[in-house]
Amino acid sequence: MRTALELARAGVPVLPLRAGKVPFGNCPACAGSACGGRPNMLAAGPCRCERVCHAWAAATTDPTVIASPSWAWAWARAVAVAYHPGGAGYTVVDLDDRDAIEWARATLPPTRVVATTRGEHWIYRGATRSANHVRPGVDIKSRMAYARWLGPGTGHTAPVPSAVRALLDREKQETTRPPGGVDSSSGPQNTWTRAVATGCRHTERYVQTGLERGLDIVRSHTKTGAGSSAYGVAAFLAKQHTRCPGPCGLDALGEDIVSAAVTVGVPEPYARRAVRNGLHASA
Ligand SMILES: [Zn+2]
Ligand SMILES: [Zn+2]
Ligand SMILES: [Zn+2]
Repeated sequence: MRTALELARAGVPVLPLRAGKVPFGNCPACAGSACGGRPNMLAAGPCRCERVCHAWAAATTDPTVIASPSWAWAWARAVAVAYHPGGAGYTVVDLDDRDAIEWARATLPPTRVVATTRGEHWIYRGATRSANHVRPGVDIKSRMAYARWLGPGTGHTAPVPSAVRALLDREKQETTRPPGGVDSSSGPQNTWTRAVATGCRHTERYVQTGLERGLDIVRSHTKTGAGSSAYGVAAFLAKQHTRCPGPCGLDALGEDIVSAAVTVGVPEPYARRAVRNGLHASA
């Protein structure tokens, strides 16, 4: 609990793990998500359960929850502290073995590294979608996932590299392709979800439709102008939210625009600058 409280003070949402290094199960009221689930889950529900239910979705930075009687009960039986990387604004590339580490060293930019039992966690700044087995021995843990806390590690935390986003995009395309058929979906899944837009007054459909159209515009600039179209799309989408109380997950929208621009050849630093300026143009 002491470690968890320290992490929470630093803005890292935490949860306890029981034997087997897995989250504690749901309480009787939350069993089978009969409660509907927590508001931060994919199928957002009204659950306000004060226990450690719903795995990663229980993760919190609230010290009164972390030290509450039902959480204290869990800490007394916990074998490890976990955290919600996406909630803290991080992405963990979980490398399970030697081969995976060698792949990372050859492919990914250096960043903060934490040793695990048999492998390493490479921690990058910025939240993404999570996905398991994006390649042999490699999981991506960020939004809607938990990672074991094994200390701060060493090294300087770098931004999520495009190589990681490319893995997520490929994984999505492979998992959405109908068996024996052609992939009819327009591309990778967006990082924006309702879960990051808790203060948005628009429907998910409205935001997704606008985002898809914007991404198509950026992707259509395969020869020139993708950078400035990324700026224009970012400014247009941000403008849709000027009357929302917020947050609307504009950073996540921005990440999707950056990814689209990078896929048509815009250098990532340039794409990021264009999107950042676009998002702020209507603020
Ligand atoms: Zn519960
Ligand atoms: Zn519940
Ligand atoms: Zn909004």
